[in-house]
Amino acid sequence: MAMDKYEVVFISNPLIGNLVPTVEFSRHLTRHDPRFSATILIITVHERIIVNLYTQSLATAASHSQSHVNFIHLPTVQPPTRYQYQSSLGYTSLFIDKHKPHVKHAISTLASTTSVAALFVDMFTTSMIDVAQDLGIPCYLFFASPASFLGFMLHLPALATQLAADFVDSHSGLIAPKDSAIELIVPTFSKPLPPSVLPSSVLKRNKDGYFWYLEHARRYTETMGIVVNTFLELEPHAIASLSISGLPPVYPVGPILDHAGASQWHTDGAQLHDSIMEWLDQQPPSSVVFLCFGSMGSLKGPQLREIAIGLERSGYRFLWSIREPPKGKLDLPGEYTNVEAVLPAGFLDRTAGLGLVCGWVHQVRVLSHQAIGGFVSHCGWNSILESVWHGVPIATWPVYAEQQMNAFELVKELGLGVEIRLDYREGSDLVVAEELERGLRRLMDGEDEVKAKVREMKSKSRMVLMKNGSSCKSLASLIQEISGRIQGLKKDC
Ligand code: UDP
Repeated sequence: MAMDKYEVVFISNPLIGNLVPTVEFSRHLTRHDPRFSATILIITVHERIIVNLYTQSLATAASHSQSHVNFIHLPTVQPPTRYQYQSSLGYTSLFIDKHKPHVKHAISTLASTTSVAALFVDMFTTSMIDVAQDLGIPCYLFFASPASFLGFMLHLPALATQLAADFVDSHSGLIAPKDSAIELIVPTFSKPLPPSVLPSSVLKRNKDGYFWYLEHARRYTETMGIVVNTFLELEPHAIASLSISGLPPVYPVGPILDHAGASQWHTDGAQLHDSIMEWLDQQPPSSVVFLCFGSMGSLKGPQLREIAIGLERSGYRFLWSIREPPKGKLDLPGEYTNVEAVLPAGFLDRTAGLGLVCGWVHQVRVLSHQAIGGFVSHCGWNSILESVWHGVPIATWPVYAEQQMNAFELVKELGLGVEIRLDYREGSDLVVAEELERGLRRLMDGEDEVKAKVREMKSKSRMVLMKNGSSCKSLASLIQEISGRIQGLKKDC
């Protein structure tokens, strides 16, 4: 008897933090069950150099390997005009929405030769749920952020009522509680959330980003299931509180990581990357602190100078990734041509031998090196999972998106991180040198309990993917759900 075949299609927000885990999940699924093959629909944004390097590498990878994952680059569309949006999420959401006809065409073409079992959207491509509904294809959500934040999104409509009643617009442009005792209760967090850790788009209630947060959250409930890149042992409270009747079932299948990481596709400056690894080879175990602020993170001159002073005062060995702030509102950070100019005079000479300053770095490779003893991170979820996988404790320095909430969860709920700040964001007070120095001392020389927990979570993060591990079982349930639904549809025909 011929084996059933299941073709699944993915469409992701074209950013590293969303697209890479989506691609890795499609690989994980198709490797796990040979009945599945996947097609990833790629949205192109010409300005995003790093993302384009990644997507160009995907076609080569697909042609060289035995992979069951294919890639279709969608035709480009006109971006929304600047009168149509107020925030970068507004821009992204409208821009993605404009791809609907191309997505419909691509899936219809696929469906003419094979049966399409599912469309997976991600946290910001929810307008494609319309396409799935039009074509009668079951739609699922692939969520690349933690279960705690998924719960926040699902709870947002209820929270909006409280935000309207208990908060006022402050002069900083962010809303502030009418009373300092006001707490936010979100079921996926075991502790009340301080309003200061909410995403900026939610705190700027009068901008379109807030509308889009609500709109995406509303649409999550229209899907048949939500796949989350997390695992039960990491977020037990959050995952348990998501099994509420009326919500789509949640499948924690992580940690899904790109273990080869950027070294496979960001080959510019390969020599420089090799020299970083050679330098790490010469450092004692767990002696180097690594600082990196994500694919979209870049701090301004005054903040960079405070970090430099703090590093120098602390005396720790360091590897520090610095990126130049984006030139245009919608661009991503780039590489400095002369980084010395933004650092205190003589910093690079004084710290030669003690530390290295670099631009885009092969983060996973760095985190896997035994010389790394701590990670000052912006708390993007992929970075957290990578750090846990390699057993490296984090000191939290969130910058954008949901990172403040991730930092809160890591430090206050899970005990897996050391606090530098939980609520830093653009426009915050500077983290001054002394504050960083104190954080580094706790990260590198204190907090044995945090280090022990991180070591324990490292081994759990590997076990869950093995046979009978919680994420492996969850993937099996998802496969059962997708294949069962298709079998059911076939019987009905
Ligand atoms: N990354 C990297 N080098 C850098 C910055 C980031 O390899 O210099 C990778 C990092 O390993 C992670 C991803 O980019 O896999 C960033 O995802 P995350 O969710 O942590 O943050 P985002 O960039 O989405 O804010």
